[in-house]
Amino acid sequence: MIESGGIKRRHLVLIVDDHEINRDALGVTLEDEYDVIYAENGVEALKQIEAHINTLSIILLDLMMPEMNGFEVLDYMRNHPDMKRIPVIVLTAEKNAELEALQLGAADFITKPFDMPEVIIARVARIIELSDGRQLISAAEHDSLTNLYSINFFMEYANNISHFMKELHMDAISLNIEQFHTVNALHGREFGDHVLKFVGTMITEFLKQTTGIACRAEADRFMIYCLPQPDYGALLKHFQEQLSEALPNVNIHLRMGVQPYHSEMDPVQMFDRAVTACNMRRRDYQNPLMIYDEQMEQKELLNQRLINDLRAAVEEGQFTVFFQPKYDIQSNPPRLTSAEALVRWKHPELGLISPGTFIPLFEGNGLISVVDHYVWKQTGKQIAEWKKNYGFGLPISVNLSRTDVFDPELIGILKSVVEENDLTYQDLLLEISESAYTENARQMIDVIKRIRSLGFRIEMDDFGSGYSSLNMQSEMPVDVLKMDMKFVRNIEVSETDLTLVRLVEDIAKYLKLKVVAEGVETEGQLSLLKHTGCDLVQGYYFSKPLPADEFAKLLEKEKRQRGK
Ligand code: C2E
Ligand code: CA
Repeated sequence: MIESGGIKRRHLVLIVDDHEINRDALGVTLEDEYDVIYAENGVEALKQIEAHINTLSIILLDLMMPEMNGFEVLDYMRNHPDMKRIPVIVLTAEKNAELEALQLGAADFITKPFDMPEVIIARVARIIELSDGRQLISAAEHDSLTNLYSINFFMEYANNISHFMKELHMDAISLNIEQFHTVNALHGREFGDHVLKFVGTMITEFLKQTTGIACRAEADRFMIYCLPQPDYGALLKHFQEQLSEALPNVNIHLRMGVQPYHSEMDPVQMFDRAVTACNMRRRDYQNPLMIYDEQMEQKELLNQRLINDLRAAVEEGQFTVFFQPKYDIQSNPPRLTSAEALVRWKHPELGLISPGTFIPLFEGNGLISVVDHYVWKQTGKQIAEWKKNYGFGLPISVNLSRTDVFDPELIGILKSVVEENDLTYQDLLLEISESAYTENARQMIDVIKRIRSLGFRIEMDDFGSGYSSLNMQSEMPVDVLKMDMKFVRNIEVSETDLTLVRLVEDIAKYLKLKVVAEGVETEGQLSLLKHTGCDLVQGYYFSKPLPADEFAKLLEKEKRQRGK
């Protein structure tokens, strides 16, 4: 029932079919619930629609008719400002026609020979209900280069399929070209366009063999929404082979991410995951296919949970700072010289979470600063407390992430940690990973120079992990190199690794910097490092990261030794 102006009236349905028997069958089915009018062909249908433009709730439209067929009616309606709001259910016996009709904006379809009357009544009722307040999908828009759909039209269309064709369990696929910007840079934009067109053609050909739709979402990202394929590895291989055959003189690699049909997800969520899966295979030429699975889903859920819980964790003090000592190994016995502050998350339900789980996550989405600011503040307070209790200051380093360095507030925050706790700039050391210097190196260097000019000392973390170039190195505003842990791990068994350690020592000497070796676990590693001239050592050999009260015992011992 529709209520307008206080008068209740029944919904009006138009049935369009050239066969009287079909019109009757549908009419009988629907007339108990609805007012029904009829048309025998497209031309008549349009007349009826015009005449009832404001009252018509739904049209049941046959596709194959003389004079003007259903497709033409749909096409006409789609381009008519008032008609396009009226939902259409197409009546069809052909699977292929269904998709074409949906493409033209039909809301649903009923197959011939007709389903059971209850099914027809339910479908009509559902579409009428949904169409109240729902915009029908807009006219098909295409990407001019590949002639696939535009992203907006594609998503709208995919939503309609998932909504109205629930029996089609479609998968979401993201297909990308590896390093497409390099293809453009090496061979020119025109060639790049040629590659994109070719991928578009391959996808169009593929869609002739299966039910589905596709678009080019951005430069080199293609999205396909289609019925599940038996073997995605084989499909990707097939695409890759066609591409390599067509362009034999250039190396172009595709990668693919798939989110299989998921009853609780809409296409937007499915494509988010397909894209995530696809990005996980970036530069993984050996293994270019990723199918989103249970394990990834669990990880994603955990990540979401950690993101949601972050604020509360800071407010409720669930983060604690542990301290791992660094020893000067050239003095005898080795002498405690500083420590590194390492965060721990004591989650009320998940227990102790290691930074390896949440730091990369928060670094990826910029939330890391929330954690870091908390750690800096706690560390600042702790240094002040120990200074007061033991009468000497032990410099402690905190970690800075890339996002921190580009934060315009950075200098203000660091200054306030020092000033509010009455510290000197040498009490708080700053560790910045070598990998942070890769992009915007120039800007990075400028910021760090400013921090350093205040008096802070900088330790370059994970040094040797292979990111910065040597010529950049000489300009880097750093005081200490922290050698990447992987160098140390095998020095007792690998001559090459030991040579690399010596190389780092030589670079440090040349640049007049001190070296900290991390991850030192054994006596053997320690003595080799001592011989190569390494200054400082941090690792389980001396101590694991400790809670503040346990670390205080080391300070106690240090105080006694200094007193001697
Ligand atoms: P990192 O800065 O390279 O810190 C050293 C990591 O190595 C620490 O892991 C430490 O516990 C571990 N480690 C120390 N000695 C040994 C050893 O002898 N053997 C082995 N196998 N491992 C050793 P942790 O605490 O799990 O931290 C992991 C990473 O998380 C850190 O790596 C750092 O990148 C990051 N992180 C920790 N706390 C913070 C923080 O407050 N802010 C930021 N931005 N990152 C942090
Ligand atoms: Ca560090």
